[in-house]
Amino acid sequence: MPTYKIAIVGAGPAGYFTAQAFQKAQNEEISFSIDMIERLPTPWGLVRSGVAPDHPKIKTVSKVFEKIAKESNFRLFANVEVGKDVSLKDLRDQYDAVVLATGASKGRKLGIPGEELTNSLSAADFVPWYNSHPDYVNTEVDLSSDTAVVIGAGNVAMDVARILAIDPTELDPTDVADHALTKLKQSNIRTVIICGRRGPEHAAFTAPELRDLPKLENTNVYIDFKQIQEAESRVAALSEIEKDLKNNLEAMKLIAEHAKKGVERKLEIKFLAAPIEFKGNNKIEEVVFTQNQVENGKIISSGEKFSIKCGLVISAIGYDSVEYSGITIENGRINNIAGHVEHNLYTTGWAKRGPTGVIGTNKSDSTDVVELIIENLKEPKLSEGITSLLKSGHEVIDQLAWEKINASEMISGEIAGKPRIKITKWRVISAILKK
Ligand SMILES: Cc1cc2nc3c(=O)[nH]c(=O)nc-3n(C[C@H](O)[C@H](O)[C@H](O)COP(=O)(O)OP(=O)(O)OC[C@H]3O[C@@H](n4cnc5c(N)ncnc54)[C@H](O)[C@@H]3O)c2cc1C
Repeated sequence: MPTYKIAIVGAGPAGYFTAQAFQKAQNEEISFSIDMIERLPTPWGLVRSGVAPDHPKIKTVSKVFEKIAKESNFRLFANVEVGKDVSLKDLRDQYDAVVLATGASKGRKLGIPGEELTNSLSAADFVPWYNSHPDYVNTEVDLSSDTAVVIGAGNVAMDVARILAIDPTELDPTDVADHALTKLKQSNIRTVIICGRRGPEHAAFTAPELRDLPKLENTNVYIDFKQIQEAESRVAALSEIEKDLKNNLEAMKLIAEHAKKGVERKLEIKFLAAPIEFKGNNKIEEVVFTQNQVENGKIISSGEKFSIKCGLVISAIGYDSVEYSGITIENGRINNIAGHVEHNLYTTGWAKRGPTGVIGTNKSDSTDVVELIIENLKEPKLSEGITSLLKSGHEVIDQLAWEKINASEMISGEIAGKPRIKITKWRVISAILKK
């Protein structure tokens, strides 16, 4: 029976679902030996460094990942970066197929004047800061002003706004980074305004996330009722209304109708507000917007301008994949056709299709790519795999080492009444592994 060597680059949801699809495809005629390569010392991708700390249920998908990792044909090589510690070319020589599940971690820019002012950040820097990503623990965030503006109308914008707008004590029982919690507790921000350039009917928020907003105990959530009514009448003119859109508008209407709670914290969602300039003296002080309108289904500027005074802006308008040697990026994604890049190179997840979809979307995506790979496989290679490529002395975090780190994080979490306390320093990881 032939055994094919598969390298999966990236230990996020797409990487694990790819491994799972290979495991499920094994039978008496074909088998796979899977090596997962991850640049960080810890796996799980955005489930660890993206998903909001106050949404712990979403993170339970990591149990599925750990089950996949327990299978005998799976090996983890964390703390190994493709493009730095090993080249993509060498990897492709060693494996029958290489699947790039490297995600999209570079925040898109608005491309407007003033974007480089201090305290104008991308969600791509802010989210990993509060989620203990080791590369972002030193992100400079100044929370001394009373108002923050979040640009974008998707779930990432909503996560960011919620983290800034809720009473930080609500984050005490979560795995939010300690450094972020300390800063959030000293924060002066009491008003957070999410601004989307299009209408409520075009927003990328999803209904379950919207429905959670009125449940916030210490934060008033506000949407202008008129904006929702106008969106509803525009949508009513359509021949067919998608279920998701209907659910979204209903959830927004509920927010707009929701009685105020008489609390000082406020989270507002503003539609048809397109930022055109950030102003300030070194540091952000004001965002200038053009008021958009919807005309015959198209978004156009009404010509009117307005501005919001604020001391922090976070842009959450999407992510692009990071380029490394051996791949080309087009429209923010690894150039591919249905997941096939070239010869034995494939891609899946956010690297393949861009920053869209929920965690589950990566499962069907990866299953399709694995089917394509299996169709294209030829004679299995006789090679050693990644171990022959790493420099001697390179400290790999394998599955056993990761399990030690995982257990240690959970034990310190249990003592503190949290799901875990994430380790961000290599020094601490080394100490745990020496025990
Ligand atoms: C802020 C935020 C919140 C989200 N919240 C939710 C939510 O609540 N619910 C939900 O369903 N979805 C949520 N999502 C979406 C979900 O996280 C994505 O669908 C999913 O993580 C994409 O999986 P991926 O494996 O393609 O990418 P990622 O999860 O980004 O994984 C990519 C992995 O590749 C690694 N990597 C990158 N480059 C290299 C390299 N050169 N060598 C080796 N390894 C490399 C990275 O370190 C990373 O671990 C959220 C996304 C974001 C950004």
